This record gives sequence, C-alpha cells and structure tokens, in this order.
Amino acid sequence: MAREHDTELYRYPQQLRDTLAHLPSTPGVYFFWASNSHVPLYIGKSVNIRSRVLSHLRTVREAKLLRQTDRITYTETAGDIGAQLLEATLIKQLIPLHNKQLRKQRSLFTLQWNEPRIAFVSSTEHNFARTPNLYGLFRNKRSAMEFIQNLADEHQLCLATLGVETAQRGRGCFRSMLGKCRGVCQGKETLEQHSRRVIQALSAWQIKMWPYKGRVAIHEQREGFNDYHIIDHWRYINTVDTLTVVPQTQHENSFDGDSYRILCRALFSGVEVIPLDE
Ligand SMILES: [Zn+2]
Repeated sequence: MAREHDTELYRYPQQLRDTLAHLPSTPGVYFFWASNSHVPLYIGKSVNIRSRVLSHLRTVREAKLLRQTDRITYTETAGDIGAQLLEATLIKQLIPLHNKQLRKQRSLFTLQWNEPRIAFVSSTEHNFARTPNLYGLFRNKRSAMEFIQNLADEHQLCLATLGVETAQRGRGCFRSMLGKCRGVCQGKETLEQHSRRVIQALSAWQIKMWPYKGRVAIHEQREGFNDYHIIDHWRYINTVDTLTVVPQTQHENSFDGDSYRILCRALFSGVEVIPLDE
C-alpha cells in the first residue's frame, strides 16, 4: 500500500508538460494555479524561474501541490531584488494556501537600549526605520522577552538592572544568587562595564536606521528589462521602468520586517542606489 502511495506522489504532472517546456531561465516570480481559482495555490521567486519550478517536481513533499496545479504563470523581473520584493508583496496581498511564511503581520516588537535599561517597543508606536538603538525583530512581546532572557543567561547580564525584572531592595537580583548574573546589582562590576557587555551582546541584532534623507531607487537591469524599485524608509513602494515621473509617496508609520530584510541585504550588496529626495 505504502509503495503504491509513493508512486502516486511521484507521478509526473502531465497537464503541465507544455508549460514546463517553455519556462524562461530568467529572474522573476511564478504562480501555481488550480482550475477555476482567482487566488494562486502558491507563489515563488527565483533568479532562474525554470530551474526553480522544475526543482518542485523533485520534492515528494511538493508533489501533491503540483498535482493540484492546473497551470503555471510567471512574471519576469530585471533581477533578484525585484523578484524578492514582488513575491513578498503578492504573498501578503493574495495569501496563497501553500505559502506559510511571509504572512501579513500587524505589528512587530523590538528592544530599545536606553542605557542602562531595555524597553519593549512596538511598531505601532515607533517607526523602526527612524528610531535609534533598536535590536531584534519579534512577532510579539513574549518572544522579545524570551530573547532577552536567553541573552542574559548566555552573557550573565542582570535582568533587574535592565529593568526587565523587578529589583529586590538592598539585595542582588534572584539570578545573581544562582550565579546567572555577574553581579552588577551587588557592585561586583560597574554599571559601565555591564552596559558595555549588553551592547556587545546585542550588537549582531541591531536594526539599521534608514541611511538616506528620503526615498531611493534601486536599479536593476538586464536585456529588455529596466527596473527601478522605489523605497522609502525600508518600505517598498513600487517598481517603475523610468525615473522621469516618480509620484510622491505618503508618509506612513509602517515597518515591514520582510522588506526590511530584503532591502538591507540589497543595499549593502553593491547594487546601484539613486537618492530621490536630496
Ligand atoms: Zn543582577
């Protein structure tokens, strides 16, 4: 029985034979559709649409998805950054059944270092792109709390001094008695030493502030394709093929973790960046 089931999973999706033969080996976003549906089953992106779609065929886990798929469409882009931005945007808009990551997020949490304490900050109250000394992106306050507790354990930091736990008057914090805090709360190290260690422990998670005055265009091109991605404070606005008329964008206080990650990587990868509001 199990063997039969496996054969079924590996069955080649005959209905897609024609489509698969004509996919381009270029960057872009691709869509798997079931018959009579206005929402795709799945949206993916790649620097090579053809090889990425074919790789789905070789995965047992994804064979079921391909058997449900009636047709495959695609949108070519000039490059990898455009494909990533388009994919993230469309997944949030269309919410395909088989895309588990990149779901729309209402708000995010981060930690703000406000020497000598740590504060929990929400993206509904602060624009992370304009706020200094922020560390880490979290889905909710609880995971931000777990993060700082683990960091404190790893580096023997004092959660009472950080303002995360209530300090006990006249005594060291509870964790110092367990040897889990190096003892700034008992005068075993200075506040400056403790602060220096906190910043060092946090440094890898720092959120980069938007390094430009206003909007920028990220330029990607290849033969027949010329994309300018308009970005404002880590927010992806849209993609245009010429910079002659770029409409003004509204000031919004939103911060999107997915576009932040995509754009952070992109901006420091040596891509051409054109400031638009100098
Ligand atoms: Zn302590």
